[in-house]
Amino acid sequence: MANPSLLILAGDGIGPEVMVEVRKIIDWLGARRGLVFDVSEDLVGGCAYDAHGTPLADATMARAQEVDAVLLGAVGGPKYDALDFSVKPERGLLRLRKEMDLYANLRPAQCFAALADFSSLKREIVEGLDIMIVRELTSGVYFGEPRGIFTEGNERVGINTQRYTESEIARVARSAFELARRRSNRVCSMEKANVMESGILWREVVQKVHDEEYPEVELSHMYADAGAMQLTRRPKQFDVIVTDNLFGDLLSDLAAMLTGSLGMLPSASLGAPMANGRPKAMYEPVHGSAPDIAGQGKANPIACILSFAMALRYSFDQGAEADRLERAIETVLADGLRTADLMGPEGGSPISTGAMGDAILGALDASL
Ligand code: NAD
Repeated sequence: MANPSLLILAGDGIGPEVMVEVRKIIDWLGARRGLVFDVSEDLVGGCAYDAHGTPLADATMARAQEVDAVLLGAVGGPKYDALDFSVKPERGLLRLRKEMDLYANLRPAQCFAALADFSSLKREIVEGLDIMIVRELTSGVYFGEPRGIFTEGNERVGINTQRYTESEIARVARSAFELARRRSNRVCSMEKANVMESGILWREVVQKVHDEEYPEVELSHMYADAGAMQLTRRPKQFDVIVTDNLFGDLLSDLAAMLTGSLGMLPSASLGAPMANGRPKAMYEPVHGSAPDIAGQGKANPIACILSFAMALRYSFDQGAEADRLERAIETVLADGLRTADLMGPEGGSPISTGAMGDAILGALDASL
């Protein structure tokens, strides 16, 4: 069988710096675990604009459609701020998401014990937290028509339309149920069925997909506003949360901040299964290109490494290796090693991006 294929698009700013640390782990998996990837690298964002006059060349897009998974660093930077909207670095990212039709955005909120004091909530509420928010990413109020600012009589009116078809709801519900099967087997679906027709349909369709295809998964429904309260009050009650584009945008940011630093947050965006059964997939840290620290060896590579761990789990069926990698990160943090973004008010000496990657490799070695 061919090796699993991975396209790395490191991008701009700290993207290439954190990706160097992921490459070390990929090499380690090949050398020590016999897990060899067919890795290719290409340009996205500002660096692609510099080379090709576009933030994503057609050949790169075509390659992204062929591989088993894409791993992206970050795009953007002040150098590109004045560019026309059509060629801004972010357009490269949006093109990937759109043409790969990545409709399920996965945002884990996972609290490493060593970092529990970083949360704005009490340690006992967040310690050991491990939840996954599945946000519908390609439909809903950000895309629905009609939209625009119109004139009505003697004043203007701003209009956006929340619109969901049954199939758009059903496919993201399936993504959530599939994930739950690999986790604690519980899904909570969030909408506003009390005040929105699209919410009523959302609830009906999620329930139908559950009853017909995933009856063994525990399903509950919650209004999204109550869900926001519960996320801050008792977040550990949840396993997988599935919700629409707008509510998911808010709830995933809320849940992310339960766990602390931007330098720790991974994400995945998944689409329909390909011929080999794997979903179309792109993995990326939540953070941007951090121009304020780029080139200084200060970036925390863990968000990008955890994104790769998600690829191991969700694209490559290597859950045990993903667990090993997450445990290695946990060990390094428990040993007190921190990049600058993880220094608490008590201070200390931060380690560099490369030293953090090396420490994680050391913990991986020790795990064998
Ligand atoms: P940002 O995420 O790049 O940075 C916000 C703050 O967090 C900065 O102080 C930065 O130093 C810090 N930070 C971020 N990641 C870090 C890491 N791994 N380790 C340590 N510190 C980290 O957001 P921003 O400053 O608003 O945007 C900078 C550029 O990135 C802009 O051009 C923006 O458009 C772009 N951006 C890209 C993405 C993406 O590629 N997905 C996402 C957000 C922003």
